[in-house]
Amino acid sequence: MHFRDVLKTQPITFSFEFFPPRTDEGAEGLLSRARQLRDLNPSFVSVTYGAGGSTRSTTRDLVVRLQRENGLNAAAHLTCIGHTRAELREILDAYRRQGIDNIVALRGDPPQGAKEFVPTPPDGLRYANELVELIRREFPGFGVAVGGYPEGHPETPSRLSDLENLKRKVDAGADLIITQLFFDNRDFYDFRDRCELVGIRTPIVAGIMPIMSWKGIMKMAALCGARIPAKLLGRLLKAGQDNDDAIARVGIDWATQQCRDLLDNQVRGIHFYTLNRSNATIEIYRRLGATDSHGLRELAST
Ligand SMILES: Cc1cc2nc3c(=O)[nH]c(=O)nc-3n(C[C@H](O)[C@H](O)[C@H](O)COP(=O)(O)OP(=O)(O)OC[C@H]3O[C@@H](n4cnc5c(N)ncnc54)[C@H](O)[C@@H]3O)c2cc1C
Repeated sequence: MHFRDVLKTQPITFSFEFFPPRTDEGAEGLLSRARQLRDLNPSFVSVTYGAGGSTRSTTRDLVVRLQRENGLNAAAHLTCIGHTRAELREILDAYRRQGIDNIVALRGDPPQGAKEFVPTPPDGLRYANELVELIRREFPGFGVAVGGYPEGHPETPSRLSDLENLKRKVDAGADLIITQLFFDNRDFYDFRDRCELVGIRTPIVAGIMPIMSWKGIMKMAALCGARIPAKLLGRLLKAGQDNDDAIARVGIDWATQQCRDLLDNQVRGIHFYTLNRSNATIEIYRRLGATDSHGLRELAST
């Protein structure tokens, strides 16, 4: 289902993000966990595209299988990096032929060690707004989501220019903004207000990631620049850096509180960074008092 129709029929969207596992065995395991998550009735699920376009076929296979075999509305992430325009067209055309309705259009990060982003010669795209333009012009049937950064994109010289750049993606035709993960809802509300001030009316979906391990969160925070509030950091340290179970309990507890607060504050959607697991997301729904996404919507409206 096209993002536009999802947004038209659902006052709040709930979606789950996966990344492509490295092995066939891993992919089977993920498909089975995704079947458990299907019972939560997500609005859509999405599959990331590996750094530098490194998971081109594994992303595609997983997206198609999640939709065909698991009956989920699956969206494919696609990045500019590592591709010429002709390659991007080829990938988009394959998705169109396979009945995929939605693309999450991103620039991608420069490879490890590289200081800045370099478009692929001879005609690669430099920014995500160019990918949105290409999709709108040549593949108008796709729904398009783009990334937004409540704490500012790590490369941006100022929050204001970051918002102007987000507006370029919206003006190019994005249907939906999915935010980078954040741990302090105040950053999200401030971002939402700033978007409103610069005239961005596109629905904004909040990216929530339950922390599952100390190592994982440190790596992720370094990569995307997410700030860990002192209160959360204190709880994680108390849990013990080597105690994954205790860290996960803190992570689930924190993410549940974030979701409850977002639902009380008219969030348009929540996108769960599942880290390919199902238990944390299922537990968050349970703690919020809902058996599926319909239940969460009802909770928000009471
Ligand atoms: C929801 C979500 C999903 C993601 N999924 C993936 C994934 O699957 N694979 C992956 O590799 N990465 C993924 N990322 C990470 C993303 O690729 C990086 O954050 C990347 O550095 C920026 O991507 P973007 O699409 O936001 O880029 P852009 O919107 O192009 O922005 C990149 C930087 O350039 C600036 N900028 C943008 N447009 C212009 C312009 N026209 N002129 C001047 N400056 C400009 C922006 O302010 C920003 O600092 C995801 C991020 C999010 C939020």
